[in-house]
Amino acid sequence: MTQIDGHIDRRQFALALAAVPLSLSAAARAARAAAKARVVIVGGGPAGATVAVTLKRASPDLDVTLIEPQTQYTSCFYSNHFIGGFMPITRITNTYDGLTALGINVVHAHATGFDAAKREVAIEKGANLRYDRLVVAPGIGFKYGAIEGYSEAASYFMPHAWSGGRQSKLLRERLDDMEDGGLVVIAAPRNPYRCPPGPYERACLIANYLQREKPKSKLVILDPKMAFSKQAVFEEAFAKYYKDIIELRLTNDIDDMSVARVDPKTGEVVTKSGETFKAAVANIIPDQTAGAIALSSGLAEGDWCPIVPETFRSAKMDNVYVVGDATIANDMPKSAFSASNQARAVAGQILADLTGAERPPAAYRNTCWSMLTPGDSVKIGADYAPGDAKGKHILVAKDPFISKPGETAELRKENYEESLAWYETLTADMFAKTASATGKHPHAGRG
Ligand SMILES: Cc1cc2nc3c(=O)[nH]c(=O)nc-3n(C[C@H](O)[C@H](O)[C@H](O)COP(=O)(O)OP(=O)(O)OC[C@H]3O[C@@H](n4cnc5c(N)ncnc54)[C@H](O)[C@@H]3O)c2cc1C
Repeated sequence: MTQIDGHIDRRQFALALAAVPLSLSAAARAARAAAKARVVIVGGGPAGATVAVTLKRASPDLDVTLIEPQTQYTSCFYSNHFIGGFMPITRITNTYDGLTALGINVVHAHATGFDAAKREVAIEKGANLRYDRLVVAPGIGFKYGAIEGYSEAASYFMPHAWSGGRQSKLLRERLDDMEDGGLVVIAAPRNPYRCPPGPYERACLIANYLQREKPKSKLVILDPKMAFSKQAVFEEAFAKYYKDIIELRLTNDIDDMSVARVDPKTGEVVTKSGETFKAAVANIIPDQTAGAIALSSGLAEGDWCPIVPETFRSAKMDNVYVVGDATIANDMPKSAFSASNQARAVAGQILADLTGAERPPAAYRNTCWSMLTPGDSVKIGADYAPGDAKGKHILVAKDPFISKPGETAELRKENYEESLAWYETLTADMFAKTASATGKHPHAGRG
């Protein structure tokens, strides 16, 4: 993919995505010749769905089962656009019909665990499923207990909106119900977490909504960190577009701005330093872990799952791959772009396992765009490869790029359009959509 001063050519980007399954064609031919092997995938997000689609397209005879409890996937990526009123939720809601049409066996159930010795996955209802290779891609879980007063039940009143669908709708409803002049509190999580620039993009897009609909209102970001992703360009946007609305309260040597306690009845949010904020809308984003099944089945070390950087095989269990947000991917951030990129690599590894085909080289990529205001987006990204750093063999960033303050409006507009094209490409690919289903512009209506 061409990068000129960090700029990715959009057509080349789409071609690069499309090229990956083609590069598996040799493996696909071998797979067809091989006996029918079984691959079971837990989780139908960008990680799991992309593994399923890539495998099935490359090797139609492979027996591929995707276990996913939801019948529709409403993405977290672009949910800030929905929350800010720039996109209807239907635009970020997808079905698994394309996967079924490809011949993937989509089982709408919750996987409850697996037996690595027997190579079986247990599901909530129904018989165990046998596998030759298992892919675990359950996304994230939340450390609810770390904040006094916060819990899964409290997240109804103070939504985190860090998982897609219901939570995003709740936050949007809380904003709609708020009176003009209220305070919106966004409590950001500690590293590592899903989508590092996400809380700050959300601040911009909610502030934009307040400016349009509730101009007397304010927004404060309470942050347990001292610094964050794309900080310079976000701070520029806060000053340029949302000067009288957004207040950023980072932790410093004196003040710890992490949230110690909340009261969902009164809206109080209390920091570790003892400051109290009376929120009309509290968006409490807790610290995170790998999805529950990864923790309970022994794939994790601490909060996340270690993988072999060359392959994304579990470092803890044979015949199991872990992909997406649940992994420890070191420099590679937890994003849908990363997850789908890892997933393509894993599909190639599985075909190589099952057929003896050549292993694809370990090369990964990520780009994360953030919208500051309509038509002005910024981005950060890099390539990643296995390497030795910090005394360990890990995934290391190469050729990183990041948007800078003071860039031209034209460049920012290009980023914005590139990001919309990326959403289309990614979701078309992961949900095996037909060409006619992907022609819509994502900013087609209001939420
Ligand atoms: C506000 C916000 C904005 C974002 N914006 C971007 C962006 O612009 N670009 C970007 O690249 N990324 C973005 N992200 C990050 C992106 O959403 C995640 O990185 C991505 O969804 C991770 O994919 P995943 O497949 O690992 O996990 P998920 O998308 O969470 O998918 C996991 C799936 O596994 C299922 N599952 C869990 N447990 C089980 C089980 N036991 N049995 C069966 N199924 C199970 C879940 O139902 C879920 O569907 C954003 C995130 C947020 C919160």
